[in-house]
Amino acid sequence: MKEKVIEMIEKRGVSIVDLAQLAYELQVDYIPITLEDAIENIHKVLEKREVQNAILTGISIDILAERDQFEEPLLSILKRDDSLYGIDEILALSITNIYGSIGLTNFGFLDKIKPGIIGKVNDSKGVQVNTFLDDLLSGIVAAACSRMAHSYGDSKIEEQEIQMN
Ligand code: MG
Repeated sequence: MKEKVIEMIEKRGVSIVDLAQLAYELQVDYIPITLEDAIENIHKVLEKREVQNAILTGISIDILAERDQFEEPLLSILKRDDSLYGIDEILALSITNIYGSIGLTNFGFLDKIKPGIIGKVNDSKGVQVNTFLDDLLSGIVAAACSRMAHSYGDSKIEEQEIQMN
């Protein structure tokens, strides 16, 4: 299932390294991480069933909209990525929510600034329908950032506990 999800993301023009690069850049000033850590954390996020379900659903909707396989008015709403639609963001938040409030903050930032691959995907909207894809990518990157922040926090607490004992 995870392989299928990665294949779907790659077919839409996005690599795991693109996502890891963004997560790395967002966290490197705060915690000591490498690009390898970021790649590993993106993979960990993609192992979650809830995340896989969100990606399968969102990318499928983008693809079906490209093929005009929705009724109006939904078809036009999806094709022009109507900013009042909002279901794309709600779906992506189901990814971010798994890792708590840091994820939510990072998602908001990515959605607003659209750095790196998220901007690229947003810019290629005339070519393919990416209404769900950009939000899903923000969700995945935000979740990986939270995961790294949490695991760094946990290791700090463990270190302190070892020193205290
Ligand atoms: Mg969107």
